[in-house]
Amino acid sequence: MTDYRFLFIFFSIKTVCWHKKCSAKAAVWTIQTVKLLLSSMRNLYKVFFLTVFLGAAHIAVGQSVAAPFEIGTWKDFKPAAVSYTFDDNCPNQLAVGVPMFDKLGFKLTLFTVINWAPNWASLQAAANNGHEIASHTVTHPSLDSINATNQSAEYEGSKNIINSKIKGQSCVTIAYPFCIAGNSKLCAGCYIAARGCNGYVESATPKDFMNVGALICGSEGGVKIASQFNFYVDWAAKTKGWCIFMMHSIDNDGGYSPVKSTELNAHLNYVNENNAKFWVGTFGNVTRYIKERDAASLKVISARSKRISIQLTDQLDNSIYNYPISIRRPLPKGWPAVNVTQGKMKLKTQLVTIAAVNYIMFDAVPNAGLITLTRQKATNMEWEKKMAIVSGKMKAEQNRL
Ligand SMILES: [Zn+2]
Repeated sequence: MTDYRFLFIFFSIKTVCWHKKCSAKAAVWTIQTVKLLLSSMRNLYKVFFLTVFLGAAHIAVGQSVAAPFEIGTWKDFKPAAVSYTFDDNCPNQLAVGVPMFDKLGFKLTLFTVINWAPNWASLQAAANNGHEIASHTVTHPSLDSINATNQSAEYEGSKNIINSKIKGQSCVTIAYPFCIAGNSKLCAGCYIAARGCNGYVESATPKDFMNVGALICGSEGGVKIASQFNFYVDWAAKTKGWCIFMMHSIDNDGGYSPVKSTELNAHLNYVNENNAKFWVGTFGNVTRYIKERDAASLKVISARSKRISIQLTDQLDNSIYNYPISIRRPLPKGWPAVNVTQGKMKLKTQLVTIAAVNYIMFDAVPNAGLITLTRQKATNMEWEKKMAIVSGKMKAEQNRL
């Protein structure tokens, strides 16, 4: 597999300010931009060796799945994952962005700076609707220019404050101010992943979760109009990768690098129309999915003519890694339909046909109990058809009366 990510690095890096407060810091910016470029070059070097030595193999060592079961690279076995991330608390993210995403049922990530007056009530409302509220530090410093104690205060402080203000989720990811990483080990003590902006579509398993690449969007970035957004998500689908967009301002709210809401909306409609290709997930949930998928062990515990029991486990922390991953297997011979449970919970199932093979597909959480597939007499569709005929007959009867 040829890797073209290096092309995106050069298209996406811009010598610009991240927010309006930075206009007086031109010298600092020049240094930071050079550092970003160097970091991208280092990544290019790593990408080269990864491409040479690993080729297309992107499933980390550790996954073990008993055939004929399979675990999807992405949710619902879709070809790509897409994450939309927004930094710096720009007001239109809540006023325009969240409603636009809600309309299509897509979830986004809001990387929040604690000291820049977050609108906690609106962030809580977004969290209640499945959006991720994550960290963009306390004071938005350049992390590589402050000492370890101050870095820890930025990592821990922002996480603790978000967790105290926002209920019903936990803060597990961070975006680096100016896309510049500090001490990765300190950061990894607090977060499962950190977003940079190295300007390429990530592979199915990023090589460095403490510096996950994203594409810079808006007037100062390489992704400005719907067709450019569409290009990158299509690229992700071609490469089975993870496309992450980094955004700040929407329209005219005064923030860095505005994205036009009309362009973003047109792009989201494209993703929605091509729903079979793209899984839109928050930065945190896609990270959870990848780590669970790569660490999963799926064993068949028993296989009888009418019932198959499997165990899905991993060694990850269940308090964080609790996101369902997608599993499928060909429909066993003589099984018209399947009922799937995990522990005492009935799981939602889908019957899908790929290359003339019928599969049963479902989502399950690792370490959340025994999964049991039970033969059912007729498919839900057949039942629905029967019910429709019955109710049709009843209607006819009623009309006659
Ligand atoms: Zn920022």
